[in-house]
Amino acid sequence: MKHSNISVFIPHKGCPNCCSFCNQRTISGTVNPPSAAEITELLENACLKLRHPENTEIAFFGGSFTAIDREYMLSLLEAAQPFMLKYKLAGIRISTRPDCIDGDVLTILKKYGVSSIELGAQSMRDDVLKANDRGHTAEDVRKASVLIKEYGFSLGLQMMTGLYLSEPADDIFTAEEIIALKPETVRIYPVVILGGTKLADLYQSGVYRTYSLDEMTELCAMLLEKFEAADIKVIRLGLHASEGVEGDAVGGYYHPAFKELCLGAIFRRQMENLLTEQGSFTVYVSPRCLSMASGQKKCNIDYFKEKGIDIKIKADPRLCGRELRIEKFTQN
Ligand code: SF4
Repeated sequence: MKHSNISVFIPHKGCPNCCSFCNQRTISGTVNPPSAAEITELLENACLKLRHPENTEIAFFGGSFTAIDREYMLSLLEAAQPFMLKYKLAGIRISTRPDCIDGDVLTILKKYGVSSIELGAQSMRDDVLKANDRGHTAEDVRKASVLIKEYGFSLGLQMMTGLYLSEPADDIFTAEEIIALKPETVRIYPVVILGGTKLADLYQSGVYRTYSLDEMTELCAMLLEKFEAADIKVIRLGLHASEGVEGDAVGGYYHPAFKELCLGAIFRRQMENLLTEQGSFTVYVSPRCLSMASGQKKCNIDYFKEKGIDIKIKADPRLCGRELRIEKFTQN
């Protein structure tokens, strides 16, 4: 059954530094951190609409949960408790920095029913972490990940692609290092350059050059396949579409349906391997994959047309996942 989150954003609270790309006020779309009373109200409304509470986690996202003022952190966890009990929710999900995890805080989180901890790893290259003012090392990510798993939490790791001074090979290295840590879930965020950040200054002064959205799509499509091959669930690919992000982005790789772009690229590559001669072909895919196989605005169909290959995409309910079958179209 599908997992869902009740998301509570804790904007820019408790961060010991300011990462090159971060403008949490924009990402979370709110400025003031919510009080415990406001969280109670939010949870009351959200829980009433739940259809499957047993698969729902309360998710504190946005800031660095274990770095916030301890009293405030406890007040948030306390506010969540009545809803955990009344609706028998699956747990609490938090996101934090790798250097803000230790045995003491994990003991507290366990006591309050936190089930999943997501770490912002972002890169596993120390030079990239330094250049982007992350304030922690790749070793911090490794140590925190091991500890989180030892304490029995579900581990999630977040990575960013296309950071300042990070080449595609560095992003692939980061993905491989993350796979070695065996998280249950991963989020991949291609960089979106937000106004008012250090990245925006570097970008606007020409020091930081980005590559094309197509190149980033190809890279992330490859990372998605790598994680899937390692049996790691990619629960997010690209930033959530929001007015705040769209309005504040000055560069980078924002697309409201970035994951679909990546899936379209995966289908195109699969088809390319099979369509080795010109002509007309019918490509059968599972009914759920019709639009992905065609690509955004049918770009895959146009791509092959330019190579002298006409394709029609049709549904075959016997196929599942990203399987495809190709038949040559011949006129009698
Ligand atoms: S640690 Fe997270 S919330 Fe804090 S500045 Fe960096 S990205 Fe933003």
